[in-house]
Amino acid sequence: MKNIAVIGAGTMGNGIAHVFAQTGYNVSLIDLSEQNLEKGIATISKNLDRMVAKEKISAADKNATLGRIQGHTSMQDGVNGADLVVEAATENVDLKLKIFADLDKMVPENVILATNTSSISITKIASVTNRADKVIGMHFMNPVPIMKLVEIIRGYSTTDEVTETIMELSRMLGKVPVEVNDYPGFVANRILMPMINEAIITLHEGVAGVEEIDTVMKLGMAHPMGPLQLADFIGLDVCLAILEVLHEGFGNPKYAPCPLLVNMVTAGKKGVKSGEGFYSWGHGTKDLILAENFKK
Ligand code: NAD
Repeated sequence: MKNIAVIGAGTMGNGIAHVFAQTGYNVSLIDLSEQNLEKGIATISKNLDRMVAKEKISAADKNATLGRIQGHTSMQDGVNGADLVVEAATENVDLKLKIFADLDKMVPENVILATNTSSISITKIASVTNRADKVIGMHFMNPVPIMKLVEIIRGYSTTDEVTETIMELSRMLGKVPVEVNDYPGFVANRILMPMINEAIITLHEGVAGVEEIDTVMKLGMAHPMGPLQLADFIGLDVCLAILEVLHEGFGNPKYAPCPLLVNMVTAGKKGVKSGEGFYSWGHGTKDLILAENFKK
């Protein structure tokens, strides 16, 4: 494989493009507008600058990496000549089904189609193509250039050969791939989201405050940040959406989202991205300041 097409230049897509380009692949980065592409490429450039400042790469490496990334607003042009497509567009079932149905017609039948979805069934995405054996989940973690894990999700029909190809490719990117099967939440979110939900239920029931819950998990369990702070970073809307997938997918009430989480998302309090969640983020993300609602 030489040429990789990445669909979506947002948080994850620009990170995925960054990692492939830095490893030496030619990357075609696809988004809906020039403005989104410019923003994505500016983020890659800024993240590369940080690596140059830390002397992890040279200024020449930075320029070579950026030189291997080409932006496209047309998916047809962008996937032309691709040996692999990695989709990292907005988390929306209908959007992903449309993208994969279109991709199936646009690229030769031997090309593997990967998706970075956090919660949508790989088997469902594969079902709109005529190559279900070559559709696979390649779930990178945020921030992609830093986080080592890639959860490799096999759809119901994904072959051993395709899985091994993507596992090996992930290793070439300097990542550690872990193979899992396609069930709601895969492994990462199936375990993480109930923990976050339980932290919110513990808060909601008045067992302890935001800082107390986060401190217990940070200092007691050696987590780098507490579950409520982590939820603010992930986005409370994203947490809610994944819990709904788990709840619906397993039909088990243990996954029911805490009513406090539902209320906060309804009120527009989505965490860092909206400026407020369990903590207030208007001043940036360096200092932890409790949101007004959670002050004692
Ligand atoms: P984002 O909103 O930051 O970026 C999505 C990008 O996709 C946007 O720039 C949007 O314009 C673009 N897009 C939408 N429709 C498109 C189309 N038809 N063609 C091309 N581009 C299109 O979202 P994100 O956080 O980068 O998430 C992308 C995917 O990665 C989702 O499936 C999400 O579940 C998954 N994911 C996110 C995280 C995370 O922490 N943010 C972690 C792991 C996986």
